[in-house]
Order: sequence, then structure tokens, then C-alpha cells
Amino acid sequence: MDFLDLGLSSHLCQTIKELGYQTPTPIQRQAIPFILRKQDVLASAQTGTGKTASFLLPLIQLLETTKGKARLSRAIILEPTRELATQVMQALSAFTKNSPLKGVLLVGGESMAEQQKLLTRGADILVATPGRLLDFVERGQLMLLGIQHIIIDEADRMMDMGFMPDVKRLMTALPDQKQTILFSATFPEEIKKLADAYLHNPQEVHVTPETRTAATIEQNVIFVESLQKRQAVRYLLDHFGQEAPSIIFCNRKKEIATLIASLKRHRYQAEELHGDLPQSKRNETLQKFKENQIKVLVASDVAARGLDVEKLGLVINYDVPHNPEDYVHRIGRTGRAGQDGHAFSLVMSNDQKLWHAVETFIQQKVNTFTLPTVSSSVRTGTKKTHPVKKVQKDPQEIKPDFNHPVIGFGDFIPAFMQRSVALESLSSGA
Ligand code: AMP
Repeated sequence: MDFLDLGLSSHLCQTIKELGYQTPTPIQRQAIPFILRKQDVLASAQTGTGKTASFLLPLIQLLETTKGKARLSRAIILEPTRELATQVMQALSAFTKNSPLKGVLLVGGESMAEQQKLLTRGADILVATPGRLLDFVERGQLMLLGIQHIIIDEADRMMDMGFMPDVKRLMTALPDQKQTILFSATFPEEIKKLADAYLHNPQEVHVTPETRTAATIEQNVIFVESLQKRQAVRYLLDHFGQEAPSIIFCNRKKEIATLIASLKRHRYQAEELHGDLPQSKRNETLQKFKENQIKVLVASDVAARGLDVEKLGLVINYDVPHNPEDYVHRIGRTGRAGQDGHAFSLVMSNDQKLWHAVETFIQQKVNTFTLPTVSSSVRTGTKKTHPVKKVQKDPQEIKPDFNHPVIGFGDFIPAFMQRSVALESLSSGA
């Protein structure tokens, strides 16, 4: 089956082909025909499955073949984060490069005046985060009378981020006659209610259960203590992160700052990405990362969902995520579109419950990876692309804390690990 069989026009198929898409992915095969028939759709699909194209392509075709009222926007795509909205906008620009359709990105953290200017020139498709879109509507700067299609992407993430009241306000401001498409990884009660309230006889599309992780990702867990964490990161970057960009996820911004400082001391080219940075900085960092100008990104969960960085080879969970579902999203940054990827999670003794929750959620026992002791890793003579010269000692990594409860969870940390804790801490001192 190819894209033509799904009912997409030959000129859209040509554009897709130029972008390197050969055959439709399962979500595209299922969702595109329903969307082209203007039916409401309730879809669950993992990120990395090609879901963005599954709604953008039919939407573009529908808008190209119908007429709107002059200057009124006809479609809204709602995204939970600015990064995701930006990424969808980039995909939209690529798909519409041979089309007169215009899209506008409306996200917080950037000048409203600039966005207003673009709006007044006319935009068929609004790619937006809920807050900024509502701002425009409530200031009377944007009319929604012409909206014929709304896509609510990552609805559960929107809910987690507290955007549900905004989404509902927006839905009530839209015309009754429209097509509504809702994508969500999970369907908790609130999302089901949202779907019941706003979708009419939706066609349901389920591609993979949300708990599934892609088979192309080789998952590993490393049982460590805090003293070892940064050493473990350096080992993984040296051995698994040489060929392709890597992401390290931390739970807290403080940890991001500490890890970045440590990596920079060790001459790794690493940058941070989290919600406290100005939007311009977030955009710049992400763009550089996508262009492979930054090798290592240390990020919060802002970067966990949907971000698409070509050939990202390594994901490290510096901390176990509090929400097991985030684990699936974090590691899903690698192994995308059939490529291979490595994921490593650093688990400390007091993370046992969280890690157990992750393994229960993914219904899988993750392979335990053994970090070699420092001396043996040096002996392997593995080439390093990140030269580690003589570095300043990291105060928290100098001496092992023998009062640390390593011994107290001998069942959990295998004996060899207990030995390597001591060896690494003593021998590396960095
Ligand atoms: P998404 O799940 O929308 O984030 O897409 C994940 C990645 O798959 C993106 O890099 C897309 O460009 C790519 N992709 C989407 N559809 C296809 C396709 N049919 N063939 C090849 N790559 C695709």
C-alpha cells in the first residue's frame, strides 16, 4: 500500500516522496482515510510512529480542496508544549512547500505583536499552545468562526500540564460544525470525558498500546549510587554516544545544572534544556541539537514527548521518572522510524519503587547492564571522541561514602557492583 491508495492527491504524494517517505506507517494507514472523510477520530499512537503526518497530510488535502472565508483560519492544531508546536509547524512547512496554504505558529514566550502581524496576513492553519491561542481570542485579535477542523494532539499531556480548562474554553468558542481529532497516548477518565463531550461518533484508531516501547530500542538498567552517576554518564557517552547525539533526562533543574557543570568540566559538549529558560534559548538549543551542533542535551521532561531528532542514538535516564509513562516517552526519543537506539536508566537503591513501577508499566524486565570498573574500562582502550584531559575534581565525586547504604541492599545491587562502586570511586577520583 502506498500514500496514493489512502486517497491522498498525487501532488501531495510527490511532496511526501521527496521528503523520503516510501510507505505509510500503521497510524497513517488507519487514520488518513477517516480524516479525509471528515470523520471525528479518537487516536492513540506512540510518538515516533508517524502520527504527525497522519493528521497533517489529510488536513492539508482537505484544506486544499475546500474554500474558506477570506482571511479566516480554518484549522487549529493544539500542542501541549512550544517545542512540539514548533516541530509540528516545521513538518507543516515541509508538507506545504508546494501549496498555497499558510500556517502560523502561536506559542507563548514569543512576541505577540509578531504573531499578530502574521495573523493579519491570513493563516489557514494555526499551530498553537492553548494559552497563547486563548490570549488572542480573548483580546479579540483572532476570530474562530471559520474553524472547520481541530486537532488536539497529546491530550493527556495537555491534561497533566493543567491545560484542560483552556482546551474546554477553546472548544466552546468553536463553531458546532467541525471535525475534531483527538490524539492521546493514554485515556484516563478526564480524556474520555473530553472525547465524549466534543467528538461525534468518532472512529477509533489504536496503533500500539501506550505501554509498549519500540523494539528498536535496546533498554538497560544500571544500578548505581549517587557517587557513581556522573561517572556512569561519562562511560555511556564514551561508549554509546560517539556516533550520534544523546539526551540525558533529569527530574529536577538543579540536577540538570549540576550535571551540565560536571560534563563541561570533563570537556563534553553539553547544553541544557528545561522550562525555566527563555523561549528563544530553548528554540536555539533545540535547533542546534537537531542540526548536530550539540552532541549532548541534558533535559527535563520538556524534551520527553514527541521531539524528533534524527539519528538520536542514546537516551540516559539520569533519574527514574516519577511517572512511568514518561519513561516510554523519554526512551522513545531514540529508536525512531526503525533506527536502532540505546536507553540506559540509572537506578539508585531508593529508586527501587519507581523502577519497579516502570517495569510493571512496560510489562518488561529490563536488562541489567554492568558498568566495568574504571581500570577495566581503561584497559579496553575504547576510542574517545570527547577528550578527557586532566580535570578539576568534582567535589561530590572525590571520595566514596562508605556509610552510604550500598551494603544494605546487597540483593538489589549485585556483588560485582558493590565492588565496582568502591573501585571506581577510589581509582578515578574525578
Ligand atoms: P512522529 O511520530 O510524527 O513524531 O514521526 C516520527 C518520525 O517519523 C519523523 O521523523 C517523521 O518524519 C518520520 N515519518 C513519519 N511518517 C513516515 C513515513 N511514512 N515513512 C518514513 N518516515 C516517516
